[in-house]
This record gives sequence, C-alpha cells and structure tokens, in this order.
Amino acid sequence: MYGNGATILKKAKTVFFFTLLACYLCPMQDYGVIRSENQFFKTLNNVLIDIKREDLLHPEVSGNKLRKLKYNILHAQEESINTIVTYGGAFSNHIAATSAAAKIASLSSIGIIRGEELGLNLKKTLTSNNTLLTAHNNGMKFHFVTRESYKQKDDQYYRELFKEHGKLMIIPEGGTNQLAIQGTKEILTDLDKSQYDFIAVAGGTGGTAAGIIESSAPNQKVLVFSALKGGFLKEEINKLTLRSNFQVFSEDRFGGYARSDNELIKYMNARFRESGVPLDPIYTSKMMFHLEDLILKGVFPKDSRILAIHTGGLQAIAGYNQMLKRKRREEITYEFEI
Ligand SMILES: *Cc1c(COP(=O)(O)O)cnc(C)c1O
Repeated sequence: MYGNGATILKKAKTVFFFTLLACYLCPMQDYGVIRSENQFFKTLNNVLIDIKREDLLHPEVSGNKLRKLKYNILHAQEESINTIVTYGGAFSNHIAATSAAAKIASLSSIGIIRGEELGLNLKKTLTSNNTLLTAHNNGMKFHFVTRESYKQKDDQYYRELFKEHGKLMIIPEGGTNQLAIQGTKEILTDLDKSQYDFIAVAGGTGGTAAGIIESSAPNQKVLVFSALKGGFLKEEINKLTLRSNFQVFSEDRFGGYARSDNELIKYMNARFRESGVPLDPIYTSKMMFHLEDLILKGVFPKDSRILAIHTGGLQAIAGYNQMLKRKRREEITYEFEI
C-alpha cells in the first residue's frame, strides 16, 4: 500500500511539473500541453525568420531535451522504474537535462560518460566542467568509460552491470527513441502549422526533426541542419518517419561537430545584441548561420515565412567559453549568467 501511495505521489509530482510548466507558459492553453513563444528574429531578402523559444521552457531541462524526456519520464513512473541510465559526452545537453528531469521526478540517474580520464579525479573534473557539475548536483552517478568501450558496450551489458540499482530504463545517447518522438511531435502548434512555409531545426540524432516532420502540415517543408558533417542524418531520419517533406543540410562550413571559427562566435554575439536571442555554439547558431546564408543565396521565394526552432543547449556555453579562452579565441559574450 505504502509503495503504491509513494508511486502515485511521485507520478503526481511529475505530472504536476509538466502541468505547472504548461500553465506558467500559456495560461490560456490546454492544461498539460507545453508551449513556447515564437519571437521575431530577423528579416532578410524579404524572408521572415521567427524563432520558437524552446530554450525558455525550463532552466535545466531545456529545449528539445524536455520534449524528448517527457514521455520517457512518464513511462518510467508508470512502470515503477527507479533508475534512468543514459549516455553522453562530457558537455552533453542530454546528460544535463536527464539528470535534472530525473531529480524532479524523484528517479535515480546514472550517466555513462565518454572519457575515462574524467573519472580519475572527479573533484577536479567537477570544478572545470559545468555540465558534469550540474548533473552531479542533480544526483546523477557517473560511470566513466574509454572511447572504445563507449562504442562497444551495449544496453544489455549495462543492464547487467547496474542490476543492483533496481528496475532500470536505458535511454540512448541523445535521447532518441519512440517516446522521445512522441514528445517532439508536440513542438509545433496548430498556428505554427498554418502560419509558416518552412520549419528550420538543428539535428544530432534526428529525433527532434522526425517529430517535427511527423507533425508538420503537408505543404510545409522542414529544413534540418545537421550539427555533424557527412550525409548520414537523412537516412537516420528516414528510419524515424515515412514522410518526405524535409531536406537535410550537413555541417561542412565549420569543420564538424562542436567546431567553430571566430566568424561563428562573432555571428552569435552580433545576433544576441540585435535580437536578444542567445544561440548555442553546437546546434542553433550553425542552423541560423546556414539558414541566413541560404536566404542570401536566394533559395527561398519572396515573402517566405520560416519558423526556426531554438532547441536550447545554452548550458554548454560555459564549457565552450573555457575552451575558447584556452585557445585565446574570442568568447561568447551574452549579458546574462551562464
Ligand atoms: C540535442 C540537441 C539537438 C539535437 O537533437 P536530436 O533530436 O538529437 O536531433 C539540437 N539542438 C540542441 C540545442 C540540442 O541540445
């Protein structure tokens, strides 16, 4: 009896969390539906870019990661799972968000982190890594592994390794599974589907893009800006949706995942000054840079309306700036606490 009561309470807490979020964001909308604001970003060559501020959904479970975790967390609670296990790099937005969501839902979390050396002196790692410090403060336990082991070991291996932690749920790196896509299908509102010709979104695993493509209107085209170079993302998205109203652009301008040059940093700082929108260095800044480039090349018909999705990721800025500082490069300078 007590166990049941406790479970119901915990579940109530999560449902409460999402409902509260929904109420807070849009008092006039349906309860339980999470919505973010669209803001004007820029007009260029008679093309409008609005930006959907998913980054403002929650201070720690930010952007698309909240969308992707929502049904996973609810599922964990329905199944009386007590520990979430997931994977990520040392600066991963997904690790930071999962640790916070697990904490809110009173679930334990374990992060399998790429980079064995980070575990040698955890105290030192935590003083120099904002992402892992946040996750640690949220109660996430870390399991640091070598890059080879990170690639080789599968869910089954970790199910066995962590079996004393009770009933586990393993969420893949980047958080993409069917429950995540159920969540990312909720990003676009009916108004978004009728008011915009194009939806722009950044892609890692493609789970966010897949949900958006699935829920988009038939006459809309979804432009997916991969954070990685190479052409694999289109195939990944094709595994997740049968629809074909999308186009993938790979990241060949800045040299690949998490890479940048001073032009990108200058661009981010300039757009922040103009629009007040802080973009992240890994995903959304590259999407916007590429999108503006396409507009200037005349790819879009006159008077096109584009909705770009701000998928969050701002927690990575602190670590990114440390790297820029070490390399004596220009830093991201947004005038707020990061
Ligand atoms: C994780 C992440 C993405 C990529 O999402 P996928 O669903 O894996 O494609 C995009 N933007 C930001 C800010 C992210 O943190």
